[in-house]
Amino acid sequence: MLKVENITKKYGENVAVNNLSFTVDAGEIFGLLGENGAGKTTTFRIIMGLIDANEGKVTLDGKKIDYSETDNIGFVTEERSLLTKLTVQEQIEFYGTLKGLDKDTIDKRLDYWLEKFEITSYKNRKIKELSKGNQQKIQFISAIINEPKLLILDEPFTGLDPINVKLMKDAIYYLKEKGCSIIFSSHQMEYIEDFCEKLILLVKGNTILDGKLDDIKENYAKKNIMIKGEDIDISAIKKLKGVISVEKTRGELEVKIANKEVAPKVFNIIKNSNITKYDVVSPSLNEIFIASVGGIHE
Ligand code: ATP
Repeated sequence: MLKVENITKKYGENVAVNNLSFTVDAGEIFGLLGENGAGKTTTFRIIMGLIDANEGKVTLDGKKIDYSETDNIGFVTEERSLLTKLTVQEQIEFYGTLKGLDKDTIDKRLDYWLEKFEITSYKNRKIKELSKGNQQKIQFISAIINEPKLLILDEPFTGLDPINVKLMKDAIYYLKEKGCSIIFSSHQMEYIEDFCEKLILLVKGNTILDGKLDDIKENYAKKNIMIKGEDIDISAIKKLKGVISVEKTRGELEVKIANKEVAPKVFNIIKNSNITKYDVVSPSLNEIFIASVGGIHE
């Protein structure tokens, strides 16, 4: 289990991360979100022991993360750090050996992952000859060849087409099942919604949202009502107190409301129309993200 306790990092007067705490259990995928400059990379660097926090501590299975523990952490970022003149096999052997694995183990695991990613024929090709997406897969294999306890994924899907996103997702779920603790960071909220049971939203280093994804969505006051039907009195809905907006999207009416108490009032207006759908739903994580971050900027 990764435990981050009250970490604060300052660069001069600038507080990059302010009193941040969270835990990631074995087999859990945790989302760390935030707009550019929110403090995500700083947090990753502290976790990996690359920089020190001014305050707080980070432990992995109870041990402070020092040089020996960093071998148990895998890191995938969108900036590629591959040795492009090496072949795929040479590259993975290089990283695997650095992490203390013998060549046989490395080769067995490499074959397994090349097969999973459907790129077995690239084993002896130079990295620089590979497409961006395939380089990303090799980067991923480098990060997990030592079967780390903790895997940090920073925009791992960059450059991947939908089929390869699916392969990568399957690989991440496989590692989760094996008990790896996973931190996932992406600006694409649909991935976070897909993957993460728990998350934190950072705004300028401060924790703005924190908890289980379902709870965050449930507790978010604003709701959306999706309505399908004919003869709906849109202007009457718009006039209701607590109605934020009414929009038509893909043949449905989307009514954004300030809280769930407004929903019966909307229903009252449409109940005599010819309705085939009336659904009160929580907004998407993307909407919550934008509203939460926007509120801080105002
Ligand atoms: P992005 O999504 O753009 O990668 P981020 O959430 O990873 O952003 P960080 O890189 O952690 O954000 O930056 C957090 C804050 O710390 C920013 O204000 C940034 O300017 C500052 N910062 C980061 N690294 C340094 C550094 N080495 N020296 C001074 N300030 C820094």
